[in-house]
Amino acid sequence: MGLPFAINPFLRDLPVYQPGKPIEEVAREVGLPADTIIKLASNENPLGPSRKAVRAMRQAFGRANLYPDGNAFYLKQKLAEKLSLTPANVIFGNGSNEIIEFLGHALLTPESEVVVSQYCFAVYPIMTQLFGARLVQVPANNFTHDLDGMLKAITPRTRLIFVANPNNPTGTTVSPEALTRFVEAVPPQVVLALDEAYIEFLEEPLDLLPRIRNGNNPNLLLMRTFSKIYGLAGLRIGYGLAHPEFIAQLERVRQPFNINVLAQAGALGALDDGAHVHKTRRLNARGLRFYSRAFKKMGLEFIPSKANFVVVKVGEGQQVFNAMQRRGVIVRPMASYGLGEWIRITVGTARENRKCLDALREVLAQKSVPG
Ligand code: PMP
Repeated sequence: MGLPFAINPFLRDLPVYQPGKPIEEVAREVGLPADTIIKLASNENPLGPSRKAVRAMRQAFGRANLYPDGNAFYLKQKLAEKLSLTPANVIFGNGSNEIIEFLGHALLTPESEVVVSQYCFAVYPIMTQLFGARLVQVPANNFTHDLDGMLKAITPRTRLIFVANPNNPTGTTVSPEALTRFVEAVPPQVVLALDEAYIEFLEEPLDLLPRIRNGNNPNLLLMRTFSKIYGLAGLRIGYGLAHPEFIAQLERVRQPFNINVLAQAGALGALDDGAHVHKTRRLNARGLRFYSRAFKKMGLEFIPSKANFVVVKVGEGQQVFNAMQRRGVIVRPMASYGLGEWIRITVGTARENRKCLDALREVLAQKSVPG
């Protein structure tokens, strides 16, 4: 049936985001009990949420009859204090995905261009297209953002540039020096959205907060999330950090109650648990070493990662993904990123990493040599 009314033409060819498969869905598909399946598909925290976050959420259940604080007052205050910013520098989103959407509402029209890198996070092109803007994709340099190339791609129509550091799905970073030069070189009329979803996994990240604090970079937006190292992906809460005037404009497109009661409570609890963050970072570093040693031994090409996942070349990515799934391990095929021969594996606990690698070994042993 064709709908008898007109749909926004930007939706016609809009790709639909393909998320990592939920455990319950895979359990139904492959006929395994859910508790034998491990999910290493969406870069979540394998240690779960902090106990402090869980405790705070339990206490908040009884307030679920009330709308949440639309301004997330206490959370904003606490986060701003932790980062030595003011609450006016902070905006919360229903995941940092929603911050990306705010940027579309605030900045993009069909006349705009958005500059991204090849192998960028899938949501940037989707949001660009949703607002009818033109995507300008700059070829990557050995899987890493070519920042000079991205600068050269700026035209008078460019309104927005996305850089994720570390990048998803590649796990690569740009050097602090190159990033500093880039931040300074992006012209003030172009917004630079610097996606720091995985920044807490870096040992020595470039600290761009002074540029938010001093107010001299009104075109710079840092995006972060509670979904990754904080282990709260299910709550959907991320945030943007920028100049107060820019934040005030983004606030105009935010739904009044976008951060629910549990998410606010959980995030407040999580901010109190530095030990959980530290433990996760250590576990992740060990996991990355485990995978890189194993891939080298197996003769598999992989992209050295600084984040909590790693991309490895396995031959027929989709087939390997399917076969691993039948063995109770959910990873992510990469064909939608133009990496059909690769899969992305989220770093799990030591036990999960071993199970994943065993499954990968078995699958590859049954197939031809990776191409
Ligand atoms: N940016 C990047 C680079 C990501 O990988 C993700 C999650 N996959 C997000 C943003 C969005 O995360 P969330 O909406 O859960 O905060």
